Amino acid sequence: MSGKLTSIVGPMYSGKTSALLSLVEIYELGRKKVVVFKPEIDQRYSAEFVVSHSGMKTRAFLVKDSDALKKRLGQLNGSIVHAVFIDEVHFLDEGIIDVVKGIIDQNIDVFCVGIDMSYRQNPFLVTAQLMAISDEIVKKRAVCHNCGEYNAVLTYRTTDEVEGDIDVGGMEKYVAVCRDCYRVLTRKRV
Ligand SMILES: [Zn+2]
Repeated sequence: MSGKLTSIVGPMYSGKTSALLSLVEIYELGRKKVVVFKPEIDQRYSAEFVVSHSGMKTRAFLVKDSDALKKRLGQLNGSIVHAVFIDEVHFLDEGIIDVVKGIIDQNIDVFCVGIDMSYRQNPFLVTAQLMAISDEIVKKRAVCHNCGEYNAVLTYRTTDEVEGDIDVGGMEKYVAVCRDCYRVLTRKRV
């Protein structure tokens, strides 16, 4: 039997990592083995842990790309793995799509957690492709930083200093906003 792929996506501060940690806990309570990966680029909190904004955490392997993830998982052969979690998956290369397919074929569940859109409302291609091949998609919302409603699906960048769609930053650079506020805020800056 194949494993299942679940994508957990949404803007920043939508509780994606908390959702990941809750699922890790469910597998571990069932005495199942999980492996957690995250891209090396994301070192905002801790090098070896996946940490939610509320401070919950679990140990993770840092990988620089999809190849490294595949190799690291291969080295764990021998111990049976029931689920693989990949946090901040939007920072990985598109090779991760085939790697994930290969993991599912080994009867391992995969959970990919990531931001679905850039602050320019462009889909992150890696996240979008994973969503397309997922068995289940969980789309999270955040509380809008501007109006306080629980309907924020977009990420708004509060500074002009960075270029490109991908940038690692915390609260000082990005906030989650609803569509209405995004439109208002974007208009103000033009
Ligand atoms: Zn709003």
